Amino acid sequence: MAAPLEFRATRKRARIHDPRRDFALAEIESEVRYDPLTGDSARICHFAFPKRELPELSDLAERTRGSCPFCPDSIERVTPRYPAELLPEGRMRRGEALLVPNLFPYDDVSAIVSMSRAHFLAMDAMPVAIVADALKLARDFIGAALPLLGERESYGIVTWNYMPPSGASQIHPHMQVIVTDTPGNQLRRELDAEARYLARHGRPYPAALLEAERGGARWLDEAGGVAWWVPYCPTGMLGDAQAMFADQATISACDDATLEAFAKSLCRVLTAYARMGLWSFNLTLMPDAQAEASGRHRLAARLLPRFYLHPQLHNSDTAYLQLLLGEKFAMLSPEQHAAELRALLAAPAT
Ligand SMILES: [Zn+2]
Repeated sequence: MAAPLEFRATRKRARIHDPRRDFALAEIESEVRYDPLTGDSARICHFAFPKRELPELSDLAERTRGSCPFCPDSIERVTPRYPAELLPEGRMRRGEALLVPNLFPYDDVSAIVSMSRAHFLAMDAMPVAIVADALKLARDFIGAALPLLGERESYGIVTWNYMPPSGASQIHPHMQVIVTDTPGNQLRRELDAEARYLARHGRPYPAALLEAERGGARWLDEAGGVAWWVPYCPTGMLGDAQAMFADQATISACDDATLEAFAKSLCRVLTAYARMGLWSFNLTLMPDAQAEASGRHRLAARLLPRFYLHPQLHNSDTAYLQLLLGEKFAMLSPEQHAAELRALLAAPAT
């Protein structure tokens, strides 16, 4: 018998005399959903907001090129090197990717991967080999850095903030890699909940979730051992997507072919988002602890498009609900978002 997994939601109804309809009494619906793993609530409402406009990104690229620390002319000169006990060469390379220490570390091991020699890569034409090489380099670095944590529980976490709305301070494509015993509240809570689910039902939560989502209203695609769908509880105001690896719980467990398959599928999804007029995102690979052997978790990737709410005000898509109340908030339903993404993924390349 399949292990239980509940997609729970409640409706909210606000009654107002609506000035847009001559002050007639109106009922406006919103929805609160509960994450089937954590029970965390998330809101879905219908907001009117101005149409998004793509900024002139080639201008932004040109303006920032001269001061970029990750361009080939500067990177060797202005970025730090690791001590020999961590990396004998001080830095690591793979293809065009170069891994260097973060000059502003926020953990014991905190690195940056400059992904390309090119200063700017467009979101709708992200080269698969560039993304795959950066991921392989991050994986190899995590392997090299793990001994530094000794007996402590350790996590190798890879993140990509792309373009300023995501919080990225450089236009030049770069990933962040941390090797840490402090994986962040969200991942720690999810892993704890997965451990409880496994103990209670004798089956890993990711397997139950994949079975529930495969082929359903939020499903996107599956190829090369990587499945994609839109989460039941949205994180992004304009939606978001997630990937799950079939057989691996950490990036260290991924062979080259798996990372190439993931990179290929990721670039397709990024192109679909770019066709929606989006031009920025956060990506985080969510691993289990390196030594965990219970099978409670599978490596997942969360892809969150980011944007400025208003084209002139440049106001953030994140505010008190998300940051102070810890409540996710979306302006469209995950099922509607998945349908739009599926149509874009099926559209021929232009
Ligand atoms: Zn650059």
